[in-house]
Amino acid sequence: MIFKCKNCGGNAVYSPEKRRMICPYCDSENSYDRKTNSNDIVSNMENCPDCGGTIPVEQFDSAMHCPYCGNSIIFDERVQGEYLPKFIIPFELGKDNCKALIREKFKKLTFAPADFLSEVCLNTMQGDYVPFWFYDYKTNAVFEGQGTKVRSWTSGSYRYTETSYYNVVRDMNIPFEKLPADASIKMPDNVMDLMEPYTYSKLRDFEPEYLSGFNAEIYNMPAEDIEGRARKKMEDDASAILRSSISGYSSVIKNNQSIRVLDRNVNYGLMPVWKYVYQYKEQEYPFYVNGETGKIIGTAPLSKSKVVGYTFTLWALLTAILASVNGILGLI
Ligand SMILES: [Zn+2]
Ligand SMILES: [Zn+2]
Repeated sequence: MIFKCKNCGGNAVYSPEKRRMICPYCDSENSYDRKTNSNDIVSNMENCPDCGGTIPVEQFDSAMHCPYCGNSIIFDERVQGEYLPKFIIPFELGKDNCKALIREKFKKLTFAPADFLSEVCLNTMQGDYVPFWFYDYKTNAVFEGQGTKVRSWTSGSYRYTETSYYNVVRDMNIPFEKLPADASIKMPDNVMDLMEPYTYSKLRDFEPEYLSGFNAEIYNMPAEDIEGRARKKMEDDASAILRSSISGYSSVIKNNQSIRVLDRNVNYGLMPVWKYVYQYKEQEYPFYVNGETGKIIGTAPLSKSKVVGYTFTLWALLTAILASVNGILGLI
């Protein structure tokens, strides 16, 4: 499907700044027609509903730009039925604001290659909706153990110690809501984990309009295949809640602990991510920006010639900076 401006026929897209559909050509707002695809994806090909060009479609693509006319195309059959997301957090951070954010964060990296923050390079940035599974659990968490309380006092020339033993039992029903796990193969799990949290109170009912102007994927794997990641978060949290409910003892020995799932529910949703892939000396340096909160995750490229230029005068300072940019950065 494609969204066409009623006024000029241009491609209407979702504006993160205005939180509504706009036409970038005539500035009309919320005035568009939805034109659906008349055919399905066949042999990884589909015709553009606007220009008719044959678009190569990857296995998981659900929204992309037509390589011929540049318009934003959403594949109808991949936002319906089993692929209909229950909810979405729409982009709140627009491309210009995202570019400004990256410039602000990295302007002090004087040893970065000269074009790292150039308009040409930053313009290659692309907004992606990443598929997630969200798991809800109703759990029963039980702790059984032995606690001691030790009391000491002195009477005459004797020192007395009294140890009292207690059965410590905690039996709690703990609900968990919307534990997230990304269902995209190309999105590294550690990056998505660092990119959290999203503000889940901002989840909206899915509408295909939100995808217009962005790329999107359907889930790459079924909910059961990646549930282990959500279960681990749930079990770690439940254990921590049990532990924090036990206090006032000199010591506690755990005899038994169980966390049972009484009820489970799974929903499918899409989360916004800006991706900036910087190419330097034939290597790719991907940067990811949370499209809602603006949190940046990435690996900074270093220009050797510039680093050498500073080596003799600013060695100590540079070493400190290099140490902070090696590996994956999590910048708020
Ligand atoms: Zn228009
Ligand atoms: Zn086209």
